Amino acid sequence: MEYLNIDKQKITCPQCGSNHFISIDETHIECTHCGTQVDTTIVLTDNTNQHMVIKDGADVQITDNANVKIKGGLEIKGGTLIIKDGGSLEIG
Ligand SMILES: [Zn+2]
Repeated sequence: MEYLNIDKQKITCPQCGSNHFISIDETHIECTHCGTQVDTTIVLTDNTNQHMVIKDGADVQITDNANVKIKGGLEIKGGTLIIKDGGSLEIG
């Protein structure tokens, strides 16, 4: 089935461009075409010009070589951002 991101746009597989996924668990979907897993807790698209805001109580982790890109900027308002195990965050 197709999934939408926070901007109500179809999530596209980063590997093959397919829009068809199956649900693995609450936070992961898997591409039915090539098997790539996508973490749905952080889905940011290239056409997002809004700031990402981590609010009080939010606990965001970027791990396992995940490369997260944010356009616009990042505001941390009391939540935590943890980057480990090869994860990276690119802002700009
Ligand atoms: Zn795919």
